[in-house]
Amino acid sequence: MVSSALQKLVMASNNKGKLAEFSALLSPLDIEVIPQGALNVPEAEEPHVTFLENALAKARHASRITGLPALADDSGICVPVLGNAPGVLSARYAGEPKSDERNNQKLVADLVNQTDRRAFYYCVLVLVLHADDPRPIVAEGMWHGVVQQHPAGDGGFGYDPYFWLPEHGCTAAEMRKEDKNAISHRGQAIQSLLIKLKESGLVA
Ligand code: IMP
Repeated sequence: MVSSALQKLVMASNNKGKLAEFSALLSPLDIEVIPQGALNVPEAEEPHVTFLENALAKARHASRITGLPALADDSGICVPVLGNAPGVLSARYAGEPKSDERNNQKLVADLVNQTDRRAFYYCVLVLVLHADDPRPIVAEGMWHGVVQQHPAGDGGFGYDPYFWLPEHGCTAAEMRKEDKNAISHRGQAIQSLLIKLKESGLVA
C-alpha cells in the first residue's frame, strides 16, 4: 500500500539505466515513476560542493515544475587521500567534454605516488513530497574499494575498470550487472530508501 501522497513521482534524471533501475524497484509498491524528460523538465543546475545539496536541488527543481513528488540522486567516486576528490566533479574530473577515459587517466595520475589507494563510490537519494517539503527523505549508500593502476573488465561505466574490490577479487567492471546492482552504492541507497519510506509510513 502506498500513501495517496506518493502514488506518482517524477524521477529527476534522464539516465535510461537509472530510470529502469528505479522504476523496477518502485513499481511493486504501486508508485508510478515518470521520467522528468516526459514532463519537459529541463536539467537542473548542480552548482553545489556536496552530493546531498545537488540531489536536493534536482528533486526540488523537478517537483516545483511538475507539482509532483520528486526523487533525485547524485553519485560519484571519492578518494580520501585526495580530500574525497573527484567527489561531485566525478563526471567531469578531467574537464570538458566529459570523458570516462580521461577521468580515469587523471585519477590514476593523481595517485601515482600514493600507497593509500582506498576509494568509495557514494550515492545519495532525496525524495521530496513537494518543492518546499521541510523534511525530505534522504538515503545513502557507500561502496568501498581500491583504485588500481591498470584497467580490467569491460562492464559497468565510469571508474569501474579501475575500481578493485578486494573481497570479490575483481573490478566493478568485471562483475555481472545484477551482482553489481545488488551491492553497489546505488543498490544500497535504494534499499535504504525503501526502509525509510516504510518507516515514514509512506508505503506499508
Ligand atoms: P551521476 O550521479 O550519474 O551524475 O554520476 C556522476 C559520475 O560518477 C559518473 O559520471 C561516473 O563518473 C561516476 N559514477 C557514479 N556511479 C558510478 C558507478 O557505479 N560506476 C562508475 N562510475 C560511477
